[in-house]
Amino acid sequence: MQTELCPKVAKCPLFNGTLLKRAGSEESYKNLYCKSGTKKWLECKRLQTAEKTGKCPDWVLPNSSLSIDEIVKKMKEKGELA
Ligand code: SF4
Repeated sequence: MQTELCPKVAKCPLFNGTLLKRAGSEESYKNLYCKSGTKKWLECKRLQTAEKTGKCPDWVLPNSSLSIDEIVKKMKEKGELA
């Protein structure tokens, strides 16, 4: 059902198959997060990062153990955020 999909699917490189080398991993993430309804995709660290900063670097995965503040800090350290 369309409403079960994360609103970022159209532009998210993980969902569109350009982020991960292993298709199996990608399918797992898609089933666990992207296609599993609002509650699950709101838990996705990629979505949370994009909502906080307006973008999400490739190294952030849906189940990242880093907090959003830690991700933002790392993005700044890497020069990915002004
Ligand atoms: S749930 Fe996360 S990984 Fe899936 S499309 Fe949304 S932002 Fe991308």
